[in-house]
Amino acid sequence: MRAIQMVDTKTQYLKIKDQVTEAMQAVLDSAAYIGGKAVQDFGVALNTYIGSGYTIPCANGTDALQIAMMALGLQPGDEVITPSFTYIATTEVVALLRLTPVFVEVDKDTFCISPEAIRAAITPKTKAIVPVHLYGHSAPMEEIMQIAKEHNLFVIEDNAQAIGCDYTFTDGTVKKTGSIGHIGCTSFYPSKNLGAYGDGGAIFTNDEALAEKIKMIANHGQKVRYYHEMVGCNSRLDALQAAILNIKLKKLDEYNKARQIAAAFYTKAFSGCGWITTPAVADYSMHVYHQYTILLDGLDRDELSSYLSAKGIPNMIYYPVPSHKQKMFAGFDFGDLQLPVTDWLTERVISLPIHTELDEEQLTFITSAVLNFKN
Ligand SMILES: *Cc1c(COP(=O)(O)O)cnc(C)c1O
Repeated sequence: MRAIQMVDTKTQYLKIKDQVTEAMQAVLDSAAYIGGKAVQDFGVALNTYIGSGYTIPCANGTDALQIAMMALGLQPGDEVITPSFTYIATTEVVALLRLTPVFVEVDKDTFCISPEAIRAAITPKTKAIVPVHLYGHSAPMEEIMQIAKEHNLFVIEDNAQAIGCDYTFTDGTVKKTGSIGHIGCTSFYPSKNLGAYGDGGAIFTNDEALAEKIKMIANHGQKVRYYHEMVGCNSRLDALQAAILNIKLKKLDEYNKARQIAAAFYTKAFSGCGWITTPAVADYSMHVYHQYTILLDGLDRDELSSYLSAKGIPNMIYYPVPSHKQKMFAGFDFGDLQLPVTDWLTERVISLPIHTELDEEQLTFITSAVLNFKN
């Protein structure tokens, strides 16, 4: 059996090695190391794939979120509602821009932000909601957009973990996550579902004026070179990464399918097991399994984790500390904020290897080992 990895980017790469070499060589030969054809082509292809009005590639997913908040003109003191149960990048940029993070609860089944919790957290200072499509499952976007409309709020989707995920509205309309909110953000970090071989990110919007502003902010606040209209930053998708992503975007649906097949194998194997809750999939969302995360009931997670590691089965806790308990936010006064569902999930989640290259032998080995831990 091949060694099991949490994410096997190497085996995936070897299957497209020749194409990648050729595409990277073309960038080197063109000497267009910043911007150029590869970045432009990828922006266009990704825009078509997501079904967005405008797509602006940038340097990484964290920048995408920061630029989105800057483009919406959010000011210090404005409140931004986000889940606490997420990767730190979502909420870090809120604090970085001196906005006020308002952490709310997630749904205990989908792990995504709860619309009821959003409603309860809205104040006159609320300006934006940042739903996170955690682990590859969409947040309940239809209801979130409705709340945003009622209260005149902006919605920034953190789509870093769910690129390629379809959201189905009650009228049957299907849209890709990232194209639904006022702005969508994504990341091409190597382990993401559409991963580069370095950093990368992109910003989506259907609003032309906003797209112009996003482009400007990502480029030192300039539309015309050396005339800087506003404070921006320097956030560019690298040309070599764009060339790689152009190849991988064509395979994204196939990659997500492979993740779904591996996930289905796990879910079937664990279906009769009383101490494992397998990932829920809501009727409005596809699941693209950026992570395959189970919930444990009544057993020691650390013991299971060490037991699996000893058998050569990597496993991870995403995320051991919720955002609202991070020292980073010690300067904020959250009152006596209680997020019991978030705390409960934080203590019980464990993620198993999931990627495009898992074979049946590996999956059988992993599921047998997990089930044998406790009969
Ligand atoms: C990966 C990730 C990001 C940040 O992406 P980077 O490209 O690493 O900056 C943001 N939000 C979530 C939920 C992520 O998983």
